[in-house]
Amino acid sequence: MNLSEKIRSIPDFPKKGIIFKDITTLLGDGAALRQAVSEMKERFSDVEIDAVVGIESRGFIFAGILAHEWGVAMVPVRKSGKLPYQTIRETYALEYGTDSLEMHVDAVKKDQKALVVDDLLATGGTAAAVIRLVERLDARVVGCCFLIELDFLQGRKKIESYRVESLVHVE
Ligand code: AMP
Repeated sequence: MNLSEKIRSIPDFPKKGIIFKDITTLLGDGAALRQAVSEMKERFSDVEIDAVVGIESRGFIFAGILAHEWGVAMVPVRKSGKLPYQTIRETYALEYGTDSLEMHVDAVKKDQKALVVDDLLATGGTAAAVIRLVERLDARVVGCCFLIELDFLQGRKKIESYRVESLVHVE
């Protein structure tokens, strides 16, 4: 099955000029969801992984299933103010202004191998911030996995020293 056909494009959402990649159509198709997760598993089948780090909120979906499949930890990275325990925070640039992401201080342990997972790689600012969070806790990022990559934004360049795997490329 061609997974790109299962993703819906919504023009001018959430604001004019953005083509939003709506993955609810893929999630709503059990066979497509299963194929997406098994392709993600396959891409990292040669790598040892202790924790799957999911980025709020759509990253949680894939990170949760992958962690379950591998029998490893799932670590949520959330927008500021959502996590209840002691956190570390990284701020990153948006088109207008900045945003912050947080992780619990005990979410990953020293030398653990972490896979960063999100639904979509755009400019790479979000993934780069999550990598910094993981590394501040002295854990190691073994790769980043995305369902979709917007190739034209060249977000991959921001995280170029890491292994990056995306199932669907938008040129
Ligand atoms: P970036 O930091 O620019 O790589 O943005 C990645 C984050 O923003 C991911 O968590 C995506 O879910 C979200 N995102 C950015 N652009 C889009 C888009 N065109 N469609 C859907 N989600 C997007």
